[in-house]
Amino acid sequence: MSERVVEDVIELLRQRGLRMTPQRRVIVAEIMRTQGHISPTALARKVQSDMPGVNASTIYRTLALLEEAGVLAHAHLEGGAEYHRAEEAGHIHLTCSRCHAEDDLSLDDATVIQKLIEEHHGFHPDLTHFAISGLCSDCRRELAGS
Ligand SMILES: [Zn+2]
Ligand SMILES: [Zn+2]
Ligand SMILES: [Zn+2]
Repeated sequence: MSERVVEDVIELLRQRGLRMTPQRRVIVAEIMRTQGHISPTALARKVQSDMPGVNASTIYRTLALLEEAGVLAHAHLEGGAEYHRAEEAGHIHLTCSRCHAEDDLSLDDATVIQKLIEEHHGFHPDLTHFAISGLCSDCRRELAGS
């Protein structure tokens, strides 16, 4: 993730009236550098190793503001809510309840289930918000073999 993107996000927050302290800059840089998802606790650990003494509540508050600004989106995974960049959030999470492996499914691949729900219930599901819990292929194979 380039410095440019970090600066754009900082500018966006500033326009929304947020005072950009050095702590907030470190938080933004760390979250924008993250590949895939990150839990608030894991982010707090990283930020605190870059800049000891950053308050966890400052980190949570900044995450919430970044989500309000449309930069981040959260999804609920096996271990709780995690954040990813909003433009990368358009996928369905598959989590294994046995080994906690994570996999993704594209929304295109899920068109059939999306349509089925819409046609039968008139309900438009947001399949990206909560992970689908189940058993991964490795665990299924292990369980079948034992
Ligand atoms: Zn939620
Ligand atoms: Zn995801
Ligand atoms: Zn598994």
